[in-house]
Amino acid sequence: MIKKKKYGALIVLSGPSGAGKDTICNAFLKRNDQCFLSISCTSRTPRGEEKDGTHYYFLTREAFEEKISKNELLEYAEYNGNYYGTPKDRIEEKRSKGIHVILEIEVQGALKVKELVPDAIFIFLMPPSMDILKQRLENRGTETKEKVLARFKTAYQEINEMTKYNYVVVNDEVEDAVNKIECILAAEMCRVDRIEDVDLSTREEVLHETLMEN
Ligand code: 5GP
Repeated sequence: MIKKKKYGALIVLSGPSGAGKDTICNAFLKRNDQCFLSISCTSRTPRGEEKDGTHYYFLTREAFEEKISKNELLEYAEYNGNYYGTPKDRIEEKRSKGIHVILEIEVQGALKVKELVPDAIFIFLMPPSMDILKQRLENRGTETKEKVLARFKTAYQEINEMTKYNYVVVNDEVEDAVNKIECILAAEMCRVDRIEDVDLSTREEVLHETLMEN
């Protein structure tokens, strides 16, 4: 009776570095393999085992700036001295096929997406506490003490932007956080503005038959 728009959602999963966005995103994708994770471009150098084209598209600053000037990015931000940005090309393609797209991005970028794509779903992932956030950043062991401190300071400011999002999920326990994100997506898919058409004919037929019977 109800025909819904076959248009994939754009899920913006954001929050401070160290909140566990990567872990939650991967766990979510494992359970929801029909969703598409957008691979970002960055001017930072690969960390640990990171591979070009899998974790990020690693670019020089010049190559990144060229993408900006050619308007190839949906959004970009400079974060702790490096550029990060979302390539535009695959997002529309996937959404128009009914595939949900996930962006795993920091706060400045998420707020830009909010202006450009207001129907996106904005989820702020919160660490359970500032102490745990600090521990997580330190335990990565892939960055200098100064860089860890810079990320911690940025995280502190980013948390102030939480109220600009639609949802907040505390990353206490991975399974639980993923369950909540699935519930958010399910609820968003039931919004009345997703209804494309309502076929009232069957409803009227049944009403008519019922009235005739009585
Ligand atoms: P990292 O250097 O730890 O991989 O990422 C630093 C921050 O940049 C993280 O908060 C990550 O979510 C964010 N980030 C990754 N890709 C993008 C992107 O395309 N755009 C924006 N604005 N931030 C991103």
